Amino acid sequence: MDGYRGGWIEIIAGGMFSGKSEELIRRLRRSVIARQRVQVFKPVIDDRFATEEIVSRDERRLKALAVATSEQLLAKVEIGVQVVGIDEIQFFDDGVVDVCMQLADAGIRVIAAGLDQDYMRRPFGPMPALLAVAEDVSKVHAVCVRCRGAAHYSQRVAGGNAQVEVGDSSYEARCRSCYEIYTAAADEDAAVQLTMPQPAEAVR
Ligand SMILES: [Zn+2]
Repeated sequence: MDGYRGGWIEIIAGGMFSGKSEELIRRLRRSVIARQRVQVFKPVIDDRFATEEIVSRDERRLKALAVATSEQLLAKVEIGVQVVGIDEIQFFDDGVVDVCMQLADAGIRVIAAGLDQDYMRRPFGPMPALLAVAEDVSKVHAVCVRCRGAAHYSQRVAGGNAQVEVGDSSYEARCRSCYEIYTAAADEDAAVQLTMPQPAEAVR
């Protein structure tokens, strides 16, 4: 006898520079204009709460609460909220999938943006599961810096071999044809040996 309550999950996925946050902010702003109660979250590395903003590359911003874990995110969702936005969802723990399901089951529209793959083109953190359970998935693309085609990958061009290398300058948007396996320079990560070394000119 319960009717449709509007809860569902939509995921905006793509590489770096693909406009994920812009699209997230655009959708959230429409909800604000429609007078819906909206809350926005983003991950922090440390465990303090902070009221911050999510900012897109075209300088659009929206107030957001930074939380360290999916459990904290769930605890901070206010009663009566109709739309929950989550930026950089790939950095959350795997529990974020259940949290999104709980929120959607409770009638909340969940809109989340995240990197679908890391610099090695491996599916990133909880993203595979989120893409599976979401009602709606949008893949957005950047422009390949080499050939101007649609770029699906975050090509690492500087730094070590850690999955997370903070800073836009360590990456370029690349398409499938222009993507190259990244090998860190010896002084940056001497312990790592890749089985497919790239020619020296490919490493910058
Ligand atoms: Zn290309």
